[in-house]
Amino acid sequence: MFSSVEADLISQWRCSLASMPRPTGTAAAVDRITELERLKCAAAAEQAQLSAELEEMTRRERADAGVRKEKQAAGVASQIALARHESPHKGARLLGFSKALVHEMPHTFAALQAGVLNEWRATILVRETACLTREDRQTVDREISGDLRQLRTMGDRELEAAAKRLAYRLDAESVVRRARRAETERTVTIRPAPDTMTYVTALLPVAQGVGVYAALKRAADSARSDGDERSRGQVMADTLVERVTGAPADQPVTVDISLVMTDRSLLGGDDEPALLPGFGLVPAALARDLVAAAIDEGHAWLRRLYTSPATGDLVAMDSRARHFPTGLGRFIHVRDGGRCRTPWCDAPIRQLDHAVRHTDGGTTSGPNGQGLCEACNLAKEAAGWRARPRPGPRHTVETTTPTGHRYRSLAPPLPGAPHPGLSKLELYVTDLILAV
Ligand SMILES: [Zn+2]
Repeated sequence: MFSSVEADLISQWRCSLASMPRPTGTAAAVDRITELERLKCAAAAEQAQLSAELEEMTRRERADAGVRKEKQAAGVASQIALARHESPHKGARLLGFSKALVHEMPHTFAALQAGVLNEWRATILVRETACLTREDRQTVDREISGDLRQLRTMGDRELEAAAKRLAYRLDAESVVRRARRAETERTVTIRPAPDTMTYVTALLPVAQGVGVYAALKRAADSARSDGDERSRGQVMADTLVERVTGAPADQPVTVDISLVMTDRSLLGGDDEPALLPGFGLVPAALARDLVAAAIDEGHAWLRRLYTSPATGDLVAMDSRARHFPTGLGRFIHVRDGGRCRTPWCDAPIRQLDHAVRHTDGGTTSGPNGQGLCEACNLAKEAAGWRARPRPGPRHTVETTTPTGHRYRSLAPPLPGAPHPGLSKLELYVTDLILAV
């Protein structure tokens, strides 16, 4: 399984940790916790060095093969992400961190290697010096990480403040430039909150952010002074929904959300949760309320999809078309739970991809289709990457990276599956495509 003696050796260390005798007393337990923390730091340093080397080796190999310079490192960050079980986005940040640490911050790297600084604190120093010139960055590196005794006792905030103080002193102008560049990163994101709520977060330039908040607060103040009994927070939230969607907050929004639930949950009062692709599970009772409200407004469409009763895999729909037709696209989106199929990615689906490329004979079909985010779809096109559907309990895609490492992605389980008591396909899951 291991392609090198060293990887095999590291695996043996890991196994030997769990089989060590239990500590004989409290002091021995603390000693061991301390040493393991140092080991984690040293492992992080080694991972950083290996990541930087992986990119250099890949560049050399591709340069020899005549690949253009700007394409030589394509996909390396995704390989690191897969190896570390992280999203490709995080993989890119880890690679950037590794290169800065290894090539530009030798003292910080040495401190990480020695177990004085952990990976997060090293990340703080890399992040806070990202806008500086190489020389200025090295000055911060030397002044903060050069003194291991001082560094050992510094917490996250103290370290961040020390790096900021030095960076402002060395190059105030680049700090301002960095603030301007940050404006290009404005965006809106969504993530689940407890109790079937969601956080919709907008990252905005400070003036706009304060403006949005002030406008919502003003609306709340005036509603409350007119005798509105909702709380200030409730009015602000409702006003946000009304102004963004153009519909009152207590009215269904006419956006297709593709709620998936079993017919037993919809009609029979069963408690099996429904699935909202891109969000996650929704309690059955709440899903029934959503459906009832949408039906009242004439906004509900029912669509039946069938799954294999034994595995919960959706049945495929075939097509000869080059582009994924709407029905098939919707099917893949629902089957993949609205999330990119790259392991550990978690980003929303942006593109429908042929696992085996269309030009290599891949069909436009459910089995050969997968939902990917934009970054993963791009990474997959880099030299040496392959993907293909494989047999599995549910829809499975196997990705092979340029180094020959293989990773499997299994479609998430859908409501209603598996059910050993049922054996015929047509008996099973109803999918409800619903506009609420
Ligand atoms: Zn992705």
